[in-house]
Amino acid sequence: MLVRLLYASRAVGNVSNEMISDVLSKARVNNPACGVTGVLCYGGDVFLQVLEGGRDQVNTLYARILKDPRHKDVVLLEYGEIAERHFNNWTMGQVNLSKLNPSVLLKYSSLPELNPYAVSGRASMALIEELIAIASIVGHS
Ligand code: FAD
Repeated sequence: MLVRLLYASRAVGNVSNEMISDVLSKARVNNPACGVTGVLCYGGDVFLQVLEGGRDQVNTLYARILKDPRHKDVVLLEYGEIAERHFNNWTMGQVNLSKLNPSVLLKYSSLPELNPYAVSGRASMALIEELIAIASIVGHS
């Protein structure tokens, strides 16, 4: 059974390139082994990550991510069973939202910034779907 999970969190301290590259390199080693795919978006000090895969595998990975001391204020935005994956092309794709045209962010929120704490989970998921549509996701499986 497949599920999709969407959460937001805030970095503890600055989001450095080193931290992003460390997280992504872990994801690109660990996720294929458990069949998890997804996308990590970041902008300012905020993370927005979607994970999809088998229910046990997604739950186990999320439990590990929750304990990671490099972020805080983790909020589960959406969780549900799915018939098919949307992010099967990415073991963990990445999007640096500060490099994105602000109009894309403005489409789903009142200000042109990533703030999943202020919008619905559905709006955050719609933003990520839009990032696929406009080919803004970097990295592949
Ligand atoms: P190790 O890398 O050996 O880590 C062991 C422990 O040390 C873990 O508890 C880890 O959280 C902690 N740790 C590791 N590096 C640091 C550091 N620099 N500073 C402080 N503590 C540290 N992992 C994935 O496998 N897939 C993902 O998709 C994924 N997404 C993530 C998204 C975000 C926003 C964050 C913050 C982390 C993410 N991680 C992801 C990392 C995850 O939280 C674990 O760190 C990682 O899965 C542990 O890998 P490991 O089992 O090889 O253990």
